[in-house]
Amino acid sequence: MTINSFTYHGRFAPTPSGDLHFGSLLAAMASYLDCRSHQGIWSVRIDDLDNYRIDKTSISHILSTLENYGFTWDTAVYYQSQQLDYYHHLLANIMPMTYYCQCTRKQLLPIQKRNTYGETVYPGICQNKGLTKKTENTALRLHILQPQQTLQDVFHGKLDIDLEKKSGDFIIQRKDGLFAYQWACALDDIQQGITHIIRGEDLLLSSARQQYIHQCLQHPFLQYGHIPLAMDQQGYKLSKQHHAPALSSSLENILPTLIRAYQQLGQVLEKNISFTSYDEFWHYAITHWQRKRIPHITLAV
Ligand SMILES: [Zn+2]
Repeated sequence: MTINSFTYHGRFAPTPSGDLHFGSLLAAMASYLDCRSHQGIWSVRIDDLDNYRIDKTSISHILSTLENYGFTWDTAVYYQSQQLDYYHHLLANIMPMTYYCQCTRKQLLPIQKRNTYGETVYPGICQNKGLTKKTENTALRLHILQPQQTLQDVFHGKLDIDLEKKSGDFIIQRKDGLFAYQWACALDDIQQGITHIIRGEDLLLSSARQQYIHQCLQHPFLQYGHIPLAMDQQGYKLSKQHHAPALSSSLENILPTLIRAYQQLGQVLEKNISFTSYDEFWHYAITHWQRKRIPHITLAV
């Protein structure tokens, strides 16, 4: 495990299931500006674990879009699909805090509560069943023994989240053997030496779950920063599921889109300022970035 000595290492970790859209740009920009304004190093990680969701052709498209928008990264692009041995190896460290679960979706549907994000809260049915084997019918769940997680959010201060109420014991290895997002992501952040995670508000509970994994592995806690989500005109989160349009890479659109994203992050441009290139924009944006201007999130926890 390598933990580098940088005091700020940020990252952007898109899932290659389609093109980047405006919501992805907001997350990438917030992470990038917060990092660069603290002289940090910034990495790009490709969340390509789930073969059912990913589209390999979108990987090169995502990277070229980031380049076209003027992002630069300091380490080789990190691919989750190359870390399977590591994910597997670290399981041994948390086995005493896990249990196997054979619940089916159908079984859980009528009894699971939903949290404020519409995600299901697992009611702990298999906690004491004593199932001892990973089979194609069992998933591995992490038992939540310390439900109260306090995230240090650089924009919003301390955020208290009760994982028992909002999540329940969550899956770290699926029935099909695939490692779950929470496990992979928490381990990647350790492996890469990430110190700050700036991401959308929809990942607030994931932040708490991943912090709990870090706690189980006795890894120091990271700092977080959650930004409000970009909404479309119908009030839906901008997402691939809701067909958010891909970011345009035509030259005349890039600078106006960057400026729109910057303003949506609550940042202010001086009156009558104009930029002739994205380099000029980024220089301005980095030197004028102010955490306190990030709009409040609804804190639906
Ligand atoms: Zn179960």
